[in-house]
Amino acid sequence: MKYIIPTIDVEAIRTLSRLGDYEKLILGRIGDYSFGVPKILEIFDTFRVKGTFFVDFAEKDHDPKLFHLLTELILGKNNDVQLHVHPQFMSDPNRPLLHQYNIIEQEHCLDESIKAFYHATSHYPKAFRAGGYGADNNTLKLLSKFGISVDSSYFPGHENCKISPLTPNVISKVDDIIEVPVTVFKNNIDYRLAGNVVKQGSLIKKLDIDSCSLEELKLGLDAVSDSKIKIIILFMHSYSLIKWNPTYTKYEPDFADMEKLDSFLGYALGKDYTFATMDEIMNFLPVETGREYTIPEIKTERNFLNSVKRSISAKVRTTLRGK
Ligand SMILES: [Zn+2]
Repeated sequence: MKYIIPTIDVEAIRTLSRLGDYEKLILGRIGDYSFGVPKILEIFDTFRVKGTFFVDFAEKDHDPKLFHLLTELILGKNNDVQLHVHPQFMSDPNRPLLHQYNIIEQEHCLDESIKAFYHATSHYPKAFRAGGYGADNNTLKLLSKFGISVDSSYFPGHENCKISPLTPNVISKVDDIIEVPVTVFKNNIDYRLAGNVVKQGSLIKKLDIDSCSLEELKLGLDAVSDSKIKIIILFMHSYSLIKWNPTYTKYEPDFADMEKLDSFLGYALGKDYTFATMDEIMNFLPVETGREYTIPEIKTERNFLNSVKRSISAKVRTTLRGK
């Protein structure tokens, strides 16, 4: 069996040190509709797909009642809620990554967020993802102390991730923790201008509704499948299906991304993937040792001028912590 675990990081982050609007970035409220978590659940329902929602319980300035209602909604639809932690919102605004905290400080962050998790859901988390993939080996040690057995923070080669190197894309065991890494592939790109290749480049990408085109999602899935990778993480955020202006004053539904999600889910189901939540699959995760270092590769083409325009606007958005 080949599995896809859709994971949705649920968070309202405006800048690395500033909390954003819960209603907008988590619920995606625009007019009478909610294009955030509720819309994602609705689309999943249409395809009979379920996912794992990693909720940032470090965002302590939101009303705890909101977390209760949110997790009730997710669990009521038989999707899964697990723990996500962006430590700057409960601790030091200048340190957004868990590995920037010593083990005692990390323990405090985890303890507080797990209490908030329990307060909202009346149960304890079993799986974890660090905000910005910012975990280190201390984080993994602490997780097992808190009864969490699965981590999904490992992003091979990402500068924020300080977990000791593991084989990309396969399930590993680190002490008592099972690591389900973020699924990545390499896109080798030919940039064309007037029919000629004027530049070549490559990017390591995660299988992400926001940062991949539909073509990349499909080719990425096929490449990962050809490398016999058994568990695939589809990455999303609570705000994946909305977009906003740089000053965060105007939000609108992102119908193109809704269509992309629809098309990708249809494509994956057509290829006989089974969708599962972390909770459903955590006792059957195939730990693999001795597999060779491999990141599957795809090849795509882009129009040179369009991609220059896109990368400038992407840089502006990243600076402002937009989508
Ligand atoms: Zn996050």
